[in-house]
Amino acid sequence: MSTHQEKLSLRVLLVEDEQKIADFVCSGLNARGFVVEHCRTGHQGLEAAKRQEHDFIVLDIMLPGRDGLSVLKEIRALGISTPVVLLTARNELGDRLEGLELGADDYMAKPFFVEELVARLHVIRRRILGAGHDVLQYGKFRLDLVSRKLSYEGREAELTAREFTLLEYLMRAPGQLFTRAQILEHVWGYDFDPTTNVVDVCIKRIRNKLALLQDGEDLSVHIDAVRGVGYRFKP
Ligand code: CA
Repeated sequence: MSTHQEKLSLRVLLVEDEQKIADFVCSGLNARGFVVEHCRTGHQGLEAAKRQEHDFIVLDIMLPGRDGLSVLKEIRALGISTPVVLLTARNELGDRLEGLELGADDYMAKPFFVEELVARLHVIRRRILGAGHDVLQYGKFRLDLVSRKLSYEGREAELTAREFTLLEYLMRAPGQLFTRAQILEHVWGYDFDPTTNVVDVCIKRIRNKLALLQDGEDLSVHIDAVRGVGYRFKP
């Protein structure tokens, strides 16, 4: 089967209330090929982070309402492992240490050059990619948690962010039945109209990829549907 070969842009979630800084970070990152989503408050940033669609989160500490450290704490408590670079306005050692303890990957003290931020992001990226390949494996099926690719006997399939999150969720508990509501909450992260069919549509796409990878062989790995209830992963 064919696989996507195009290089995907790295996606950055920027949470920063100061317009001047946000403008210069956005334009600097855009110019270097990153795609930036900008939020101005901690609450908005947290909601955006829950979608887990970003390769990095650049998070200001001093934000109106919910501050960056509390957002970081919540992100990690939710099990979201997206790398976080904190922006510190003051040269406060305490905030930085607390941030690193809460699971930040790095910090930048303002003012900074956007080149330095880009360099840090690439260092984090290399560190993650080099940190051994975390893989969920059942038989010949492998879900690479770093490259987010699904493979079977050397054939590979790309997954969208949602497909990946959903499949990882099911694969981590093989045989366990998950309801649509549980899947919605975990993968989409918010209260969705319970009559929505996004879960079924996403499952269908994953199933098609599983079937394509197994290319006519008996499906050794598949996703079971339990009518009216939900889905489970069957190795
Ligand atoms: Ca600020």
